[in-house]
Amino acid sequence: MAILRSIRTMFDGGPPSQDRALAGRLMRVIFGCYVIVAVGLTAVQMMVAYRAASQRLQDDVAALQRTFSPGIEDAMWRYNAEVLRGILAGMQEIPAVIGVEVRDEAGRRVQTTGAVTDEDGQLRRGDGATPAARPFGTPFSRTFPVIHTDENGRIYPIGSWTVHSDDSIAIEQVKNTLYVILINSAIKSVMLWFIFYLVIRTMVGRPLGQIRDYLARIDADSLGAPPLVIEAGGRNELHALAGALNTMRDRLRWSFEENAALMRDLREMNATLQDRIAERTRDLEALAHTDLLTSLFNRRKLDEALAEATEGRGRPLSLILGDIDNFKSVNDRHGHKVGDQVLVAFADLLRDAVRPTDILGRWGGEEFMLLCPDTDLPAAVALAERLRQRVEATALPEVGTRTCSFGVATLAPGESTDSLVGRADAALYRCKRNGRNRVEVSASLWSEAGLAERGAA
Ligand code: GH3
Ligand code: MG
Ligand code: MG
Repeated sequence: MAILRSIRTMFDGGPPSQDRALAGRLMRVIFGCYVIVAVGLTAVQMMVAYRAASQRLQDDVAALQRTFSPGIEDAMWRYNAEVLRGILAGMQEIPAVIGVEVRDEAGRRVQTTGAVTDEDGQLRRGDGATPAARPFGTPFSRTFPVIHTDENGRIYPIGSWTVHSDDSIAIEQVKNTLYVILINSAIKSVMLWFIFYLVIRTMVGRPLGQIRDYLARIDADSLGAPPLVIEAGGRNELHALAGALNTMRDRLRWSFEENAALMRDLREMNATLQDRIAERTRDLEALAHTDLLTSLFNRRKLDEALAEATEGRGRPLSLILGDIDNFKSVNDRHGHKVGDQVLVAFADLLRDAVRPTDILGRWGGEEFMLLCPDTDLPAAVALAERLRQRVEATALPEVGTRTCSFGVATLAPGESTDSLVGRADAALYRCKRNGRNRVEVSASLWSEAGLAERGAA
């Protein structure tokens, strides 16, 4: 196993991993089966070769009768021991023969050579030792009768001769063939092991490793990477697996892209909706603060602005209330519709005349309010006077020039908005009482000097 491991490392160039383990495992299974089959076949082959050699040996021993019986019979008939010994010595030279014994008619041993059977049936060499035990070999003997036939055809049994042989001789004879078979099998096995291992590594282990590495690398960002291509050629289940993985990856990428597009659309829709809501909110807020007829600020906005402005403690705030003089007569004379048009034109006139920092709104009916932050009383009075003169000088649709009265007040320290509005209203009332088309200032906070100064101007 250590050799297998080192060979494996040689091919893989690194320590064993999962795919290599698969190749090794497949090798063990395949090679195990192969070895069993090869050993079986080799054993059969060896057995057949041994059988053939063994049969040849038997045939050779049987053939000895034809070759040597006439000589033995002649020697025994003539009692020629010399000749008989020569024949036996010759026989001893034959590889198939390990011993020969010749017996007379009574069964007495006449002449022997090599191994002979002793009284208890054991085969022994001439020196008394049993022949060297050979693996797989079993001794066997053939006994042939010695018969003399005279010229008249009469038969005289004169004894028998026995030749001893051993199966192991057959094994010796086929030994080289067996070596070739064994070496052949061993070389074939080793070669096949290498070939199998390389083929499995190339066709299974490497593609599996490639698929594993590809899967380990892939994530949401790398879904657009080039597709997995199995390096090993051909087309098999692993190529089909890689194809299926590529298809799955494409589907995933498409659905990711679809999701991203959906998210983009949703975000865009959301942003658009938010813009529209903000726009609509602004519109509603504006509407809630706008007088529908004149498009000036309405009473609600004026109330809010008043509350906000009075919070800015320590900073001057003046308020001007304007009321169109004798507006009822407009309606009475020209109708309500013209009255509305006059109100709109009057609002436009005021809007053009006031400063950007001033807050202008319709207080109600034909009454308008102007909030002037950071404006002291003299400046507010001057502004009211300018407005009065402008109204007086501007012709309105259908009705020509009209006049307007203005009540002015400035917020006193600690004063409430209601009080401020009340004082401006009282000043306006005084305008009406004093003949209209004039500017009146709230009496309680009025400075005689300031008014005289402005009035002169
Ligand atoms: P004075 O100089 O005392 O203010 O007289 P005046 O007629 O302007 O005041 P009065 O309060 O007697 O009448 C206000 C008129 O304004 C009554 C009303 O018909 C009219 N008026 C109020 N709001 C509207 C409006 O939105 N449209 C029209 N056409 N007329 C309005
Ligand atoms: Mg009026
Ligand atoms: Mg009025």
